[in-house]
Amino acid sequence: MRISTGLRRTAASVVSVAALSLVGVPGPATAAVVVGDTPCVEPAGTDSRADAGSSARGGYGHDTRPVSATEQRQIRARAARLLDRSARAESAGATIPVYVHVMAAKDGSGNVTNSQVRRQIGVLNNTFAGGESDAAAQTGVTFELAGVDRFYNDTWHRDGASANYRKQTREGGADALNMWLVDFKYLGIATFPWDYAKRPGIDGVRVNYASLPGGSIANYNLGETATHEVGHWLGLYHTFQGGCTELNDEVSDTPAQSSPTNGCPEGRDSCALPGLDPIHNYMDYSYDSCYTEFTGEQSARMSDMFTAFRS
Ligand SMILES: [Zn+2]
Repeated sequence: MRISTGLRRTAASVVSVAALSLVGVPGPATAAVVVGDTPCVEPAGTDSRADAGSSARGGYGHDTRPVSATEQRQIRARAARLLDRSARAESAGATIPVYVHVMAAKDGSGNVTNSQVRRQIGVLNNTFAGGESDAAAQTGVTFELAGVDRFYNDTWHRDGASANYRKQTREGGADALNMWLVDFKYLGIATFPWDYAKRPGIDGVRVNYASLPGGSIANYNLGETATHEVGHWLGLYHTFQGGCTELNDEVSDTPAQSSPTNGCPEGRDSCALPGLDPIHNYMDYSYDSCYTEFTGEQSARMSDMFTAFRS
């Protein structure tokens, strides 16, 4: 399966609920407990961790494991080989089934409503369809809610034993997006597509439940943390990956930037290389309200990475 890039616009409101599997009783969204204000690095050898060299987004640690330049080269080579083979079996368009796992506490904390879940899927569809800016890419990726399940486990709610809970609850294959909603020191953490083959059981995104639309994290509660994390899940790096270098994020139409953006500083230009910092890009660390776009080359990269590693 290949994602068609830029060929069609997807209605943001198309969210199928026919396949909804609702388990448990939806409860009210509860206030977030804002914890941690320093960038955190999980121990080496885990699937994902906050970037050691980048500041946190909004005081929350964030979000994928670091990738060295050597590993970047190896990933590019693997993707190129796989694309050669899979190109023959391409079909247009990609609808990604989304399994949402609500990891609530025993007292109901974090038990987001079904309405919030549907709004989150709507945000994914709108942002991937280029709905927030005329300049944004229409990626051709659509998301369809395939199931919601709910757990009431204080350890899991706090993202404890995360490899275990993910293996126990993950649904679908390489092309299925699993989103675990938890309460932790991060806004979100994602796995990369090229890691799926090695560790399929933990593949997906973990997202702070209070970042969903209507959540309680100021400046980060429009649901676009999930957009950012799904960008990683489809193979995008941060726009500040590699800093002020030509290679940086391996995407040619996102100007280099030296470091993550905080807030929404119009005109920021942190590198001598051409172009202003892409502060409105979903793969920076700006406020949700500042995010408006993926670029055409990011869309193409997501398509390639999906074809190589998730189809
Ligand atoms: Zn990130």
